[in-house]
Amino acid sequence: MACDFTALANLDTTDPEQATALLQQCTATLTDPTLWIWGLVLTFLCALVGAWIGKYKNAVVRDAVLGAALGPIGWIVSLLLPKRTVSKNCPACAKPVEARDAHCRHCGAKLGA
Ligand SMILES: [Zn+2]
Repeated sequence: MACDFTALANLDTTDPEQATALLQQCTATLTDPTLWIWGLVLTFLCALVGAWIGKYKNAVVRDAVLGAALGPIGWIVSLLLPKRTVSKNCPACAKPVEARDAHCRHCGAKLGA
């Protein structure tokens, strides 16, 4: 018995043995390592494409996370988001900050005018 909708539709509800067998088959399908390896590989590839988009938007980590979490939808969101403008470094921690930021997003130091 395969774990699919046909098996579920043809399930004899008066036979608990058959329902248990179908449940075990579906559990085995969901815990198959091949499925999880493919899921991880696809998530990694989506993050890689997101990071590639983020390279042109000055937001590699943001767009990699968007790509990993949302896949192709995250790529579209990344493409629609405005390009980050990094123009100076924080005087306290020396990490890059945007010109319009009032506070450093890394250490929280107030960025003066
Ligand atoms: Zn800082």
